[in-house]
Amino acid sequence: MTPSSMGSIFRLALALGLFVWPAPAGARQGEPLCGDCQSTGRVPRELDAEAVALEQGALLCSIALDQDPEGLGLDWKPCPKCVRPSAKQKAVEEFEAALLPKRAWLKARREAVDAVVKSPVDHLETEHFVLAWDLPRIKIDRKIVDRHRALHLYARRLEDLRTRIFEQIGLTDADTNGVKHHVYMFERHKTAIAMAPVVTGRSLVKDTKISLLGIESHMVSWDNPQVITNDEERHQFLVHAVSHHIHDGLEDRRHWLFQRYGWVYEGLAHFQEIRDFGPPIAWCSAEGGAFSNWQSATWEANVKKAVKAKEQPVFQEVIRKSAGSLSPMEHQFAWSYIDYLMWLDPHAMKRALELMIGPQKDVRDVLKEAYGLSVGQFVDGWTAFVLEEYKTRSRKGPYQRPPRS
Ligand SMILES: [Zn+2]
Ligand SMILES: [Zn+2]
Ligand SMILES: [Zn+2]
Repeated sequence: MTPSSMGSIFRLALALGLFVWPAPAGARQGEPLCGDCQSTGRVPRELDAEAVALEQGALLCSIALDQDPEGLGLDWKPCPKCVRPSAKQKAVEEFEAALLPKRAWLKARREAVDAVVKSPVDHLETEHFVLAWDLPRIKIDRKIVDRHRALHLYARRLEDLRTRIFEQIGLTDADTNGVKHHVYMFERHKTAIAMAPVVTGRSLVKDTKISLLGIESHMVSWDNPQVITNDEERHQFLVHAVSHHIHDGLEDRRHWLFQRYGWVYEGLAHFQEIRDFGPPIAWCSAEGGAFSNWQSATWEANVKKAVKAKEQPVFQEVIRKSAGSLSPMEHQFAWSYIDYLMWLDPHAMKRALELMIGPQKDVRDVLKEAYGLSVGQFVDGWTAFVLEEYKTRSRKGPYQRPPRS
């Protein structure tokens, strides 16, 4: 076919009306253009810059949604006086579709929590956490932080904790079971008592918190004045408690660390407390009872003095206990064993945890496969580490031990 015959076919097709030029997406023929929305059907909504900044890092926040019932925080809306019906119709449908999951989330949270505790609770969901919160305000240093800001602050603190733990051990999202951690923080004991059995299956009558870990992740706590007297203590308490949920989130199995590897369970949480805050203030009790320090609040001094006096507990006995049955002294040694392993090679802890999950191996096999140590080598290495690295003077603030050089 020659170029001139192509041209005549084209002209013939045009004459017969065989070509249809595409109209703008969604527009019907003959519709006018809309100057208000440039015919997109959407116009921007004015949002308060400060409110938008507060929501950074949050996927959904009940307070923000309640404050904007019309648009639920969306930065656009359908063009109100649109002269292009097809564009407007599409925008209205998209607007409703964008609001629907937000409304459904709010309804589900209210039913799951507010309806159970029979009082208004605020809710915030981030990438890895779902918080329920009713503390009216908190005091940080000498400043009062309102309920909404405090909720966001704690959500950030929990995400930061997860990031720290992941970096320390070398974990990635692919190592987890993908379950979000639900953290309920209430002002009053009776609110926590109402919530605890519904999400954890256990009662919270004597304790400050109760957890369900592993296959699901829920932690209910309240501002018990015997444990939490200021914001720093509340934050440290949460770091201890929520670190358990982060470690346990590696596997779809309930309480897999607590029962069989109590020293690792508590040791890792105390490691985080000392690293981020200083002397520990919390543990997960059963027979161990309420938190108390064996000897002094400086655990490394206590451990070193005991090792020098050859009064340390037997490693093989401590590692057989569940987290709930460790004595106050054994908590300090459990922390020290973890402190030693994290000093040796923090990323080998990831391998150790993997061996504790799936095959639930004996500690002797875990040490051998993750660290290349026999039990005897572990005990000798740990003893030398304590004598060389630990100080006997007291330490107050956070302490991050430099890794083995
Ligand atoms: Zn918010
Ligand atoms: Zn318009
Ligand atoms: Zn604990």
